[in-house]
Amino acid sequence: MSIDPFPERVSPRKLCNRNDSINSILPVEKLLRLSEFLHDNHGQAQVSLSFEKDDAGHCLISGNLTADVRMLCQRCLEATEVKLASDFAIKVAETDKEAQDIAQSSANNLEQLEVVRSEEGEFDLLSLVEDELIMSLPIVASHADKDCSKTLQSLQQKARQAGENLASGSIQGLEALAELKQALKEENDKK
Ligand SMILES: [Zn+2]
Repeated sequence: MSIDPFPERVSPRKLCNRNDSINSILPVEKLLRLSEFLHDNHGQAQVSLSFEKDDAGHCLISGNLTADVRMLCQRCLEATEVKLASDFAIKVAETDKEAQDIAQSSANNLEQLEVVRSEEGEFDLLSLVEDELIMSLPIVASHADKDCSKTLQSLQQKARQAGENLASGSIQGLEALAELKQALKEENDKK
């Protein structure tokens, strides 16, 4: 699949009239509002958009977005990889009248549709893509148990404690060792 440059502003009408499509890659560092929710602005989004006219002649944009980003793990507060994905369909209206028509014709349609106004035929495609990615963010991000340093830290701490107790010849050392073996077994079972 060829990669198109991403056009930040487009005329949806023109693109819909010729059934155009855009397959593009957007670096996350271009998405400033999205980056505010992330650990850093590394990563990129794969953007696939298709433009067509619906039966009534309204402009329909269907999109499929995926992005690999890094968010803050809420347990260990380190970066964790998160995959974002969004599928959406919107209709673009150029006038209030057209927006009303679309709203009425979609009222009994179960498909999720958004109606977006374009300004003087121009449309901010970058904002649309960014909004959709922001809506696809998980509410809370965290590592899988086996990858989270919080889990590792607490196991390491227990191991240290058990080692110290064993060295001092205390009976607690043996109990702690048994507990630790159990904890390690549980962690392994999760994998
Ligand atoms: Zn973590």
